Amino acid sequence: SKKVGSDIEIARQAKMKPIREVAGKLNIAEEHLIPYGHTKAKVSMEFVKSLKGKPDGKLILVTAINPTPAGEGKTTTTVGLGDGLNRIGKKTIICLREPSLGPCFGVKGGAAGGGYAQVVPMEDINLHFTGDFHAIGTAHNLLSALIDNHIYWGNELGFDARRIQWRRVMDMNDRALRAITNSLGGVANGFPREDGFDITVASEVMAIFCLATDIADLTKRLGNIIIGYTREKKPIYARDLKADGPMTVLLKDAIAPNLVQTLENNPAFIHGGPFANIAHGCNSVIATTTALKLADYVVTEAGFGADLGAEKFFDIKCRKAGLKPAAVVIVGTIRALKMHGGVAKEELGKENVEAVKKGAANLARHIQNVKKFGVQIVVALNRFSADTDAEIKAIRELCSGLGVDAFECNHWAEGGAGTEDLAKAVVALCDKPNNFAPLYPDEMPLWEKVKTIATSLYGAQDVIGDKVVRDRFHEFEKMGFGKYPVCMAKTQYSFSTDPNLKGAPSNHVVPIREIRLSAGAEFIVVICGEVMTMPGLPRVPSANHIKLNEKGEVEGLF
Ligand code: ADP
Ligand code: MG
Repeated sequence: SKKVGSDIEIARQAKMKPIREVAGKLNIAEEHLIPYGHTKAKVSMEFVKSLKGKPDGKLILVTAINPTPAGEGKTTTTVGLGDGLNRIGKKTIICLREPSLGPCFGVKGGAAGGGYAQVVPMEDINLHFTGDFHAIGTAHNLLSALIDNHIYWGNELGFDARRIQWRRVMDMNDRALRAITNSLGGVANGFPREDGFDITVASEVMAIFCLATDIADLTKRLGNIIIGYTREKKPIYARDLKADGPMTVLLKDAIAPNLVQTLENNPAFIHGGPFANIAHGCNSVIATTTALKLADYVVTEAGFGADLGAEKFFDIKCRKAGLKPAAVVIVGTIRALKMHGGVAKEELGKENVEAVKKGAANLARHIQNVKKFGVQIVVALNRFSADTDAEIKAIRELCSGLGVDAFECNHWAEGGAGTEDLAKAVVALCDKPNNFAPLYPDEMPLWEKVKTIATSLYGAQDVIGDKVVRDRFHEFEKMGFGKYPVCMAKTQYSFSTDPNLKGAPSNHVVPIREIRLSAGAEFIVVICGEVMTMPGLPRVPSANHIKLNEKGEVEGLF
């Protein structure tokens, strides 16, 4: 087989088309395009609005088994499948999240796909792109500034400084800012209090941005953010500070979806990028709904494995936005299945059919889970060069026993030509009956929602929590938030809350450590295990190797 270059080498050789040509293929007239250079553009909100009433294309979700830390190729497969569908003559748009800039300087690796299945211009996409994260961070920090300013001028709303929930954000991995004391330096600087920073993608503004259906909905949700409590524990909302107006102004341009292209010049919307733990982990509703009006097929990705990403995609995003996914692609890799079968990291490169079969219990559980949502399923085996035919065959047989087709996919090495079989299968699935429904009804009590997810998807025996945690569930219900879906935050590496429990564990118990209300995003975050909302950099960060060469090209980023 031919040697595949590094992601950046391949991306640099891309023959990009001017973005107006890519938009032209979708019949987006130039007047509706807001170009950011020649290869990126926003699509105007007027145009987005003008699509109302047009029929929708078919929505295809790409999700995965529980991954290894390297990732199993959801983004790469989303891009590859989009190119494959276009190749077989189906008008297709892909929708992805915008990557966070901070992590690019930590552990090597971008989030724009890989090999011959990438979106470009990949450096721009991974760095400042069209400034959306700047706008989101600024909107967030405006609210932070308004809070401390309000306290400075007399604190009429009665903020209890110990109960302010709204922190500050920036798009950088900076552990030094996780916990800080602000307003130091004397009378003119306000009242010192404990505070801290999260990375921008963890902001509730990001989650709101991605769930808002239009500008009016965005403003309403921003106003609904609970920023703190009084001494009597009465909630204080962003709208009490009149923050929803100016925050919307800061977001008015960012809210329009960003259009770029794949290496094969097919259209891609990349818009919004919420965390997949304390938020729902998929691109903006506006990008998805716009793409559905413009194409016959829309392929999109949800973060983490299907236990988290697909569940939240269905139960939060689709429920709220009224989306009806037609088909789901579950990505698996031989190396990850081997790992689930008990093989050590150093041995993953060696053929081991038995281990692959054993580890396939993980894939089988995900297939059974996704079936519970009433959607059609296909498995994409993202082929790595070390995989053997015997290993691939074993998985295909196993899937066929579960009534699901599995296809070997070579998009990483071959681009869209490597996913033609998968693309044809997806088209066939989209024409089959679709009985999509979320897992639980809005009316179910919050605790029961968590228990339903844990027992029917995670294989857990029960859910537990201290009295303080259980009381919080009732408090939120009394406050009127019981109808919200729950947003599970747990490790992506296992069905359980223990990252080392591989395969398909059963009869484990899910301990709930904490719950948080995201009243603007309209979900209840249920934290089971550690969550990190401000990452740090590793001992040797990739920043150490990043520089501009004499040609003005970025080196060391990917
Ligand atoms: P995910 O979206 O599931 O986190 P990505 O698609 O971002 O995963 O892929 C993670 C990394 O693995 C990327 O750097 C990508 O280049 C690489 N990768 C994906 N598929 C393959 C493959 N078939 N062979 C080699 N590397 C791959
Ligand atoms: Mg990804």
